[in-house]
Amino acid sequence: MQRLLALASTHVGAFACALSLASPGAAFAADPLPPTPLRVTEGIWLIPGSFEGERQPDGNTIIFEGTSGLVVMDTGRHTWHRQAIVDFAQSNKRPIAALINSHWHLDHTSGNADIKRLYPNALLYTGTAVEKMIRDVWPQSLVRSQATLDAGNLSPVAAADVRGDIETRKNPQALRPDMPVIASGAYPIDGVIFDVRLAGNAATGGDVWVYEPRSRIAAVGDLVTLPVPFLDTACVKGWRTALDEITATPFTRVIPGHGGIMDRAQFLSWRAAFNAYTDCARSPADKSLCAANWLASTATLRAPEAADDANAREMAEEYVAFLRENGGDARLCTARSFP
Ligand SMILES: [Zn+2]
Repeated sequence: MQRLLALASTHVGAFACALSLASPGAAFAADPLPPTPLRVTEGIWLIPGSFEGERQPDGNTIIFEGTSGLVVMDTGRHTWHRQAIVDFAQSNKRPIAALINSHWHLDHTSGNADIKRLYPNALLYTGTAVEKMIRDVWPQSLVRSQATLDAGNLSPVAAADVRGDIETRKNPQALRPDMPVIASGAYPIDGVIFDVRLAGNAATGGDVWVYEPRSRIAAVGDLVTLPVPFLDTACVKGWRTALDEITATPFTRVIPGHGGIMDRAQFLSWRAAFNAYTDCARSPADKSLCAANWLASTATLRAPEAADDANAREMAEEYVAFLRENGGDARLCTARSFP
C-alpha cells in the first residue's frame, strides 16, 4: 500500500547536473545504475522499471519512434530511471518530442519535470485525474510525508524516496496535461497517429493506454502489473472494464506498467487472476487465502521470482484488507463498484 500513492524519488536537485553533463547517473555511489533499454520491435523500446528491496517502484517506460523525435510513455520515479530515458535519446541523437503519462502515480511521472527542462517542446498527453490530486489530496499528503521524514525513523533509502516524492508533488506543473486526453480516439503525436484509450475509474480516476496497430502492441500502464495489482487508487469495476477493452483489441503483446512483456495467453491468465483476486477480496475468505490464490495463479508470470515470494504475498494480503476497509474499492475511488 502507499507504495505508489504517498511516496518517492531522490536527489532531484543534483539530477539536473547529471543530465546536463550527460553523465550516466553515478553521482551517488549507492544509487543503482540506469536500467538498460530493450528493443521490443521496430521503433518501440522498453526501459524496464525496477522494484527492489525497500525502494519504491519505477514504472516501465515505453519509447515510440515519432516523426521528429521520440514519444516517451511514463518517466519513472527515480533519477537513475529518467537518466536512462535521457541517455537513450542522446545516444540515438533523437530529441524527446512528446510525453504520454499512463496515469499520475509518482512512479510513472516523477521524471517529467527534468525531461521537460531538457526538452521544453515536449508536450504531455495524459488524463485530467491528476488535477483532483493536486487540488484535494496532495496538500494534506505532503504534510504527512514531511512529518514522516521529520520524525527521522526512516532508513536512508526510504527517506530519499520520501524526499523525492515530496519534490514531485510540490512542483506538480509538469504532471498537468498540455494535451488533455479526455476521450479515447486517434491522437496525432509527433506526426504519428496513436490509438489512445482513456479508461475512467480504473487503476486511477483516468488511465491512458495505447494500442499500436502495426506492431499489435498494447502499452497499458498500471492496468496490468506484477508482482501484484497496485490497488492504491483503484475502482475495481472500471478496472475490469478496461481489461475487457484491452482484450477486445487484436493485440499480440502487452507491455504492463510493471513487469515483463506478456503475450495474449499470459495477459488473459493475468486478467483471470485479477478477477478472481478482487472477487476474493469481496468474499468473506481469509485474506491469506486470496493472496495464496493470487500467488499460485501468477507463479509462471512472476517467474523467476519465487512462486511464494514473501513481499508479493504481504502486498497481496495488504491490498485485500485495504479494499475491504473501503467497501471493495480504494478510498480515493469516486465511482463505487459495489454500491
Ligand atoms: Zn506504477
